[in-house]
Amino acid sequence: MKQAAWILGDQLSLKNSALQQLNSQNDIVVMIESLEHARELNHHKAKLMLCFSAMRHFREELSSKGYTVCYEELGEGKNFLEGLRETLKAHAVERLLVMAPHEIATVRFAQSLPQRLGIEVVITPNTMFLTDRDEFIKKHKGKKHLILENYYREMRKKLGVLIENGKPVGGEWNYDKHNRQSAKAFAQSKLKIPPIWKPEKDEIDKEVEALVEQFFPNNIGTTKHFHLPTKRRDAETFLDDFIENRLAHFGDFEDTMLKDELIMFHSVISPLINIGLIEPMQCVEKAIAQYENGRAPINSVEGFVRQIIGWREFIYGCYWVKMSEGDYHEENYFNHTRPLPDFYWTGETKMNCLSKAIQKVLNFGYTHHIERLMVLGNFALLAGVQPKQINRWFWEFYLDAYDWVVTPNVIGMSQFADGGFVATKPYCSGSGYIEKMSDYCKSCAFNPKEKTGEKACPFNYLYWDFLMRHEAKLRSNNRITMIYGTLDRKSNEEKRAIRHSAETFLSSLKPNTYYT
Ligand code: FAD
Ligand code: SF4
Repeated sequence: MKQAAWILGDQLSLKNSALQQLNSQNDIVVMIESLEHARELNHHKAKLMLCFSAMRHFREELSSKGYTVCYEELGEGKNFLEGLRETLKAHAVERLLVMAPHEIATVRFAQSLPQRLGIEVVITPNTMFLTDRDEFIKKHKGKKHLILENYYREMRKKLGVLIENGKPVGGEWNYDKHNRQSAKAFAQSKLKIPPIWKPEKDEIDKEVEALVEQFFPNNIGTTKHFHLPTKRRDAETFLDDFIENRLAHFGDFEDTMLKDELIMFHSVISPLINIGLIEPMQCVEKAIAQYENGRAPINSVEGFVRQIIGWREFIYGCYWVKMSEGDYHEENYFNHTRPLPDFYWTGETKMNCLSKAIQKVLNFGYTHHIERLMVLGNFALLAGVQPKQINRWFWEFYLDAYDWVVTPNVIGMSQFADGGFVATKPYCSGSGYIEKMSDYCKSCAFNPKEKTGEKACPFNYLYWDFLMRHEAKLRSNNRITMIYGTLDRKSNEEKRAIRHSAETFLSSLKPNTYYT
């Protein structure tokens, strides 16, 4: 029976289970660059460049291994259904294999294919995660809250990662409390942040870059600063560069933000791991080897491992639980209705932390986790922005954004719009956190020490205003009861001044005209 494996653009793993079931002599691989799909959202130009260039490099890789790859290149009117129909007919394919897509919309599309194409379609298990999503759904469906730490420990034991005689290596499961060094501590350390390794653009990259300008001239962002690998060999070098040169300080300065630094000691592997150019266990094994060779301390290595086998897997599981219960995109625990401010598209705001972080995103499609959570997400939450709008913004503006990962991180972790399914309390703060962890406040038009009034940092009054507005939903959360104790000690006059400053500031925000 003649078979074809349809490889999606975010499934470029050699372990792809649909690919592995092919007979490379008789069967074919199908890959389609769908203009229709790519235009569903206003994706950052650099993300489009990464995706299409990585797909074309994967075509080369598979061809060199002897596969017949039928590849539809970007063009007007191109979409998945027509691409599949034409290719399968031309090659008299009788069975189509597709690895379980990562996102609900594509799963539904794949499930509709037998009827639409009139052939057998087999959805093969997803091999790009360490979590079995059906098992995860079965175990957690219907629960109100999940706890990352529990899942992380389970994964450590299951995979035998950083475990010695049944106990965590180094004696502790989690070294997070060592990983909160401030911007001041970074300056005192006199450490230099090593420049990241950047591959040269090859002919395929340049060709795709021109196509992105041709087909998506008005999309957000730019490809001018594109610095990511688009082929597997380069992705591995990129990972090695992180492991050898930055991992050792990853832990200490994981939460530190500097206005002129994009990456600090982070890995920037999310755009690559999310499309299958590198594998999760490859990252984990390399990090552990670095610890065993005495070249990286346990707080860094455990911290990094927790991101990969803890957070990444947990988020994937949470997405599938929530999607099995309804539409996660629509959740809005606080009933927030404000449109996202227009400055999220330009960076034009006097709030220095937001302005600089947005400029980083426009240029690179990247900021590290803390700028996402405690600057961009924090502001949207405190300002009462519609969760669906901020979710779409992250989805469009970041190079690593796919529904399965962006939605639980934004709707769940950052906006608490799922009422605490992913996070045990809202991740929000006034200026104190940003002032301690960054150097943004030093050159800001606002004063982080002032609480109300024109010069005061908006994070300060927005924070208390948010807590007052949502007291009925939050006071009973025992992780923030103490904060309500502080609020209770504020006088009525102070509370009135907070409300007044918040209302004045919020009414000055210009709404965006992009999302309705
Ligand atoms: P590092 O700090 O070097 O961490 C290593 C790896 O751990 C990451 O590459 C990533 O694969 C994984 N990881 C760590 N935290 C998470 C997490 N919470 N969820 C999933 N994987 C995680 N991550 C995405 O991959 N795509 C997104 O669209 C995305 N959107 C986010 C939106 C918000 C509001 C927040 C708070 C987080 C978001 N994250 C997203 C998670 C995290 O911020 C990024 O994975 C990380 O910043 C990527 O940079 P890095 O590769 O340098 O990560
Ligand atoms: Fe951001 Fe406030 Fe600091 Fe300005 S003062 S950089 S707005 S936290």
